[in-house]
Amino acid sequence: MTFPSPQYVGRFAPSPTGPLHWGSALAAFGSWLFAKKAGGEWLVRIEDLDPPREQDGAIAAQLATLERLGLHSDRPIVQQSQRQPLYRSALDHLLAEGHAFPCLCSRTDLAAVQGIHRACVPQSEGTHRTRSFRLRVDDTPVRFNDTVQGPFQQKLLSEVGDVILRRADGFWAYQLAVVVDDADQGISHVVRGADLLDSTPRQIALQRALGLPTPIYTHLPLWCDAEGKKLSKSEGAESLDSHSASEILRRCWQALGQDDGSWPLQGHGMVLLNALPERFTPALIPPQLSPIAATPRTDLVDQPDT
Ligand SMILES: [Zn+2]
Repeated sequence: MTFPSPQYVGRFAPSPTGPLHWGSALAAFGSWLFAKKAGGEWLVRIEDLDPPREQDGAIAAQLATLERLGLHSDRPIVQQSQRQPLYRSALDHLLAEGHAFPCLCSRTDLAAVQGIHRACVPQSEGTHRTRSFRLRVDDTPVRFNDTVQGPFQQKLLSEVGDVILRRADGFWAYQLAVVVDDADQGISHVVRGADLLDSTPRQIALQRALGLPTPIYTHLPLWCDAEGKKLSKSEGAESLDSHSASEILRRCWQALGQDDGSWPLQGHGMVLLNALPERFTPALIPPQLSPIAATPRTDLVDQPDT
């Protein structure tokens, strides 16, 4: 049974650095399941703010995969590259309020302190560098309770340092863009891979500095190899193309800890997909994937896609 919940707005926000892989399919499907079970909206946002890391054609390929899986954004898809004035205005606000500051420190300057920026390194006269901008942080623990991973906290100044908001090369930093976009789009629930768990306290600190609400966070287990290690980029990028949509979704369903017996025996395509949210049990999601759960099942009966 699902109940209408217009307050629930979830999202899937891939970076176009390559085709979707098993881990991103899991995040997409998992965030979709949560949103649809709550009767909410599910949005797709393309996080294309780092052109040097992006791959030509990746956006179209990722959207084609989502289409094939039947995961449709409930609103027009936005691209971060089109939203730079929003990030500019957030940075201006942080600067005006004294939460952000310009910084000339280079990676070399910070090497002696493990790359953690706690104060600016004095620059010799005549240093000509482009400024970056950072959020000033302190050591008050930032705590949150993750739906799957449980309580998590970080002391930002000790563990992370002042957070980059705009890089010296002029690109907007991920942390600022994601916080601004989540608030602008009214995202109430963030469901994503556990590799972003330790980014969350930085995002919460930014939300507080900007006077924005903090969504509910759910960090899904990462897809592992047979030894239980997170898939490397090349392994993780194993193309989904050779698998049918229903096989991909069923493997993700198992990886989310769902009882295989709850998988519908009838139907495929949208009929299959639409039967899943009410069968989805978030409490079964394991904090970490067991290697067995992540190992491809050989007993899956493939169903044709229509
Ligand atoms: Zn500095």
